[in-house]
Amino acid sequence: MNDALEMSREGLQEIFLKWNEPKFRADQLCQWIYAKKIFNYHDMSNLSKELRDKLSGNILMSLPVLIKQLKSRDGTKKFLWQLNNNNRVESVLLDHGNYKTACISTQAGCPMKCIFCETGANGFKRNLTQGEILGQFLMMEKFNKADINNIVFMGMGEPFLNEENLFKVIRILNDKKMRNLGARHITISTCGIIPGIEDLTGFEIPVRLSVSLHAPNDILRNKLMPVANNNYPVQKLANALKFYRSKTGERITIEYALIDRVNDFPENAYELAALLDGLEPYINLIPFNAIPSRPELKRSDESRVKNFMAVLRELNIEFELRRERGSDIMAACGQLAGNNKQ
Ligand code: SAH
Repeated sequence: MNDALEMSREGLQEIFLKWNEPKFRADQLCQWIYAKKIFNYHDMSNLSKELRDKLSGNILMSLPVLIKQLKSRDGTKKFLWQLNNNNRVESVLLDHGNYKTACISTQAGCPMKCIFCETGANGFKRNLTQGEILGQFLMMEKFNKADINNIVFMGMGEPFLNEENLFKVIRILNDKKMRNLGARHITISTCGIIPGIEDLTGFEIPVRLSVSLHAPNDILRNKLMPVANNNYPVQKLANALKFYRSKTGERITIEYALIDRVNDFPENAYELAALLDGLEPYINLIPFNAIPSRPELKRSDESRVKNFMAVLRELNIEFELRRERGSDIMAACGQLAGNNKQ
């Protein structure tokens, strides 16, 4: 049976045409779902009773089921969702006062096994479907009782390993007759999957790109991000990013979590600058967040962070030290596990 969130607008149009209904019924349905967050066909009051019954009988409306919601002292909220086959994922809602950002998962678990990330420590279950990815966002908007301004694919999983569904989701979010979310409000974060970056270079919607680099050379990056870096070593990755930048004109954000005495030496900052020379990146320094599976990894102390930043400043590299959010509820970067423990 068809499922509404698994369908494109064209797919819905086809169904209405088959039912001898005008095509614009699909737009009406999309308005209810994506703009008004009304998921019950019987509440869609501009459709006839007969059509509402027909929709209920023929098109499922599967949504993630909320198991748990936690609220951080800083206002960040974490949602744990139940999906099919007992798979669970988490999403995070970041509250920046006048705007909000939803951090969404694209996979249940993650196969990349980056050593500093709790999601990877728990193994990989499966890719999420288009509807499961959209469902997290729409349900959060429903709970939030207002639109959320930004979406970042920075939750559990590696978005470019689920590229087909990721791109379908982005088309739906961006579609003026569906969620109508601007390209500049959508960010993909990747551990450096080069084919995904290449496909994004030719993608019709100019979303933002963030790359989790965390190390400026192969020796260190192989240790920290073994799966990603064995397949896509740093120099090749840097070249793919430069190509993306030259083709699209877009600036790329580089994520770099500072781990005490691992990747926070001033030499690392010099190497990082050399690797990214010509890219004009925007570097996001992330305070490392502690994870249960790797107690030996620690956050860099203030003086080491200062020294690292001093090098970047000296080399005129634009950067920001990101404020950590939601760590008291295990909702900060790298802490999502998709379980019920927190
Ligand atoms: N797989 C994608 C999406 C995950 S995004 C990616 O790698 O980009 C989650 C972000 O948090 C990534 O930048 C990741 O590298 C970072 N991260 C993971 N574990 C972390 C930790 N313990 N502390 C700080 N940042 C972490």
